[in-house]
Amino acid sequence: MKQISTEKDLSTALASSIKSKKTIGFVPTMGALHRGHISLIETCKKQCDTTIVSIFVNPTQFNDKKDFERYPRTIDNDLALLKKAGVDFVFLPNEKLIYPKPDKRKFNFGKLDQLLEGKHRPGHFNGVAQVVSRLLEMIKPDKLFLGQKDFQQVMVIRELIKQLKSPVKVVVCPTVRDDENLAMSSRNANLSDEEYDEATFIPIWLEEVKKLATRYKVSQIKARIETLIARREIMKLDYFEICDTETLEPIKEFSETDQAVALIAVFVGKTRLIDNVLM
Ligand code: AMP
Repeated sequence: MKQISTEKDLSTALASSIKSKKTIGFVPTMGALHRGHISLIETCKKQCDTTIVSIFVNPTQFNDKKDFERYPRTIDNDLALLKKAGVDFVFLPNEKLIYPKPDKRKFNFGKLDQLLEGKHRPGHFNGVAQVVSRLLEMIKPDKLFLGQKDFQQVMVIRELIKQLKSPVKVVVCPTVRDDENLAMSSRNANLSDEEYDEATFIPIWLEEVKKLATRYKVSQIKARIETLIARREIMKLDYFEICDTETLEPIKEFSETDQAVALIAVFVGKTRLIDNVLM
């Protein structure tokens, strides 16, 4: 595995792949790697000749500076995991390389950026679009591997790719969960034992939502989840919505033809966790 931290090394590394017409698969991450990230890498390795993983904690997508500072950083462990996973290249850019000058670009994702994560974390998706567009411009991969855990992020990045007229193909990988069914997340490392135990209710509630959908109205299910969370002392609900998978707009009633997704964001202590389930 080769480590790359300059644009020159990146072009040299990619040039050989391009010359020998090898397909390039790219997995962008913010590090603090776990089995969720590794599953993306495994899928990438199956589908592409060359696998490149980036680790960059992107400051422009954090609307809360404290959250950026608290974000876990475990580079030595990450490098060991990537080597074991058989990654070809790990790209470790510094901020100057990604943003040689402050990125003033403002993307327009319409409603997609005003709902859910967009509404609750203003500017977050603009920052995601800034970093992803820069990484795509530098790496020019054939395929981009993303996790369904960040459901709305996938939709935003698909829209970004359309706007950039980039030929890259998006591959969405299923959410990997731990033994307690909690969606794996770098942020889980910030949970105390007590907070972790509380967090394991999230997947239980989402499974319940799926069952309730056959008998109850959307409004009743929402009320039920809101009541359940209000009872937990160290949890605070940021949002819980049941939305159309195509538009991500909240739905009022279930339909036979359109697929719905339940999405949740909860603070467990100071740690904000998100999860979703297709219904
Ligand atoms: P992050 O490092 O959190 O920015 O995530 C990098 C990529 O890994 C994103 O495409 C995420 O959606 C994906 N990812 C994060 N957690 C999981 C998980 N538990 N299962 C599958 N993919 C994940």
